[in-house]
Amino acid sequence: MAGITLQNIVKKYGDGFPAVNDVSLDIADGEFVILVGPSGCGKSTLLRMVVGLEDITDGDLTIGGKRVNDKAPRDRNLAMVFQNYALYPHLSVFENIAFPLRLAKGKHSDAEVTKRVNEAADLLELREHLERKPANLSGGQRQRVAMGRAIVRQADAFLFDEPLSNLDAKLRGQMRTEIARMQRRLGTTTIYVTHDQTEAMTLGDRVAVLRKGELQQVASPRELYEEPVNLFVAGFIGSPPMNFLPAQLEGTTLTLPFGSVEITPEVAERARGAEFLIAGLRPEHVEDASVLEGSRAERGTTFEVDVDVTEWLGNELYAYVPFTPDERVAAKLAELDKELDGESMRHQMVVTLDARSRVRDGDRAR
Ligand code: ATP
Repeated sequence: MAGITLQNIVKKYGDGFPAVNDVSLDIADGEFVILVGPSGCGKSTLLRMVVGLEDITDGDLTIGGKRVNDKAPRDRNLAMVFQNYALYPHLSVFENIAFPLRLAKGKHSDAEVTKRVNEAADLLELREHLERKPANLSGGQRQRVAMGRAIVRQADAFLFDEPLSNLDAKLRGQMRTEIARMQRRLGTTTIYVTHDQTEAMTLGDRVAVLRKGELQQVASPRELYEEPVNLFVAGFIGSPPMNFLPAQLEGTTLTLPFGSVEITPEVAERARGAEFLIAGLRPEHVEDASVLEGSRAERGTTFEVDVDVTEWLGNELYAYVPFTPDERVAAKLAELDKELDGESMRHQMVVTLDARSRVRDGDRAR
């Protein structure tokens, strides 16, 4: 196993805008890192450079302390799992998993191949499917075969490129848990590309957020959510997204389009001296006053507003509140409020801006 270090990595296709621009990232041995960002931000390009499918225009890539920029993919000892799994339809599950071992001709005896394939199949609960062809497997089983192939190679690291995006929501959930469990059990360094928020927030030790080829923030899921370094990360992580409102600060009084809210001195301190301010309000910080009790209600500031649309998702209820004529603010409500179902009504909402809420200036990257 090995750590992977990217140092000032650049990728240019032709002479256009760099697809990956000066990315530096240190991935520890055994760490699980997620690359996330909108379509076209350079996630796949970055992964393909690590595995060796794409040349690196500039910068250094080291695996296990050795520079590998000029090494062929087969000499990097990495295992990649693709979105379409890349299984061979004419080969059985056993032979699909065994494939990388067969490729290394003469290196592994038949007994060794059988032993390794069986071990991987046990781990992935594929033992009873070994004789089947991929066409006769479900999407999730195919996914596991692709992972089996990565496991038998005993690679230094696993690289996943949106491996779950072809699966339905239920299976995606199951496979997500399985990948997390397997990675923990094997302790193999893993880089995982996705544009799925849930995968990004639940799978990795750290998440690297990319935008237009540039790294915005690398942090634990919790830190990304609670301490985003700029507006892009704040708006990208979280669903429904954070509400952004223009704000002005005087002392500890923050004036928003719909009124004033008291904030803590610590939060106020962070925003001091900024030229212009945008307040970021998570939907869970706007709540229905009528069902809030105790300290949370006391900490907040209450406003009377119209609720014009609600969305009930079974376990969550969101209301969209036109706090200003052209801005709707998403509010996460308690289940008790189910009767607020789409009818326009005046309602008391509480806005809580506590120490976790950030107030910062502009779109400044750290
Ligand atoms: P998605 O989530 O849509 O797969 P991504 O974040 O993985 O997107 P990349 O596929 O890495 O993005 O692409 C990054 C940028 O590089 C895009 O602007 C894309 O158009 C460009 N690009 C990717 N591959 C090539 C190529 N072979 N030739 C030229 N430009 C390319």
